[in-house]
Amino acid sequence: MPYCANCGNHQSLASSKIPPSSDTAAAPPYGLFGNFSPEGQLITMECQGASLDDAQEAFEDPKTYFDRCPICGSSEIYW
Ligand SMILES: [Zn+2]
Repeated sequence: MPYCANCGNHQSLASSKIPPSSDTAAAPPYGLFGNFSPEGQLITMECQGASLDDAQEAFEDPKTYFDRCPICGSSEIYW
């Protein structure tokens, strides 16, 4: 399963490849979040700026898209 080498988080990952929507001042720094099961399966995604096409591509290739830990900000994600 994917996990963050820095803080050990393995429940949710973010994508730095997709910029967040800029219309809200309180927007999170990532455009797409993924929630993972304990087995490492991508279960749900939260789009904060990602289009449906972006989300579809991320779903098909999560290793490429989910490259940041949203909790500590580390990019050391191990798969
Ligand atoms: Zn982390």
